[in-house]
Amino acid sequence: MYIPSVEDTPADRPVGKIVCVGRNYAAHAAELNNPVPEQPVLFIKPADAACALANEFTVPVSQGAVHHELEIAILIGERLRDADENEVAAGISAIGLGLDLTLRDVQSGLKEKGLPWELAKAFDGACPLSGFVSAERVSDWTNLSFRLERNGVLQQEGNSRDMLNPVLPLIAHMSRHFTLNPGDVVMTGTPAGVGPLQAGDQLSLRLEDWLQVTTQVSAREAAE
Ligand code: ZN
Repeated sequence: MYIPSVEDTPADRPVGKIVCVGRNYAAHAAELNNPVPEQPVLFIKPADAACALANEFTVPVSQGAVHHELEIAILIGERLRDADENEVAAGISAIGLGLDLTLRDVQSGLKEKGLPWELAKAFDGACPLSGFVSAERVSDWTNLSFRLERNGVLQQEGNSRDMLNPVLPLIAHMSRHFTLNPGDVVMTGTPAGVGPLQAGDQLSLRLEDWLQVTTQVSAREAAE
């Protein structure tokens, strides 16, 4: 169970499910040799994937490469089911950053066999989340810039204007397939520049001038 913070205050409920979209930036789809999909590619991480990003988080090290995918994370505040974009805009509580951690070698093996991605993306701790800030700060959902530095080197830089499915229509689409409840988080896809994390890496993440997070990666051995 992970209780996120909003404007440095603990939220009144833990994170529920985390609904994610794959290939939402054309440049990232291209770097993994994936076609740009006609429909959003949706998947879900369970509540136990959520954990704190700041200061330190752990990655599993015994299953091949663990990639960072930096994404804008949206905290849902109102129940959204079959919602339109206005209802979505009113139902968003807060905005932050998350890492859609991906066991890339595991995922490649699953994709080759046509199997689901859960083992690669839904493991415990697979979604480190920053603190959130109030959605009231957002005046334009289609112009939000964010970036990730790894060991002082710029690794990922994105702007929500480049999303194939922008935030509000994306969440409206999700709500036609999965009811979104207060405490659920939406991950909005990663821009290009994904790559492997190593134990000891120092990361610095930024969203607009609202959030600045520094953290360190440490190794988690397999629990066998
Ligand atoms: Zn992702």
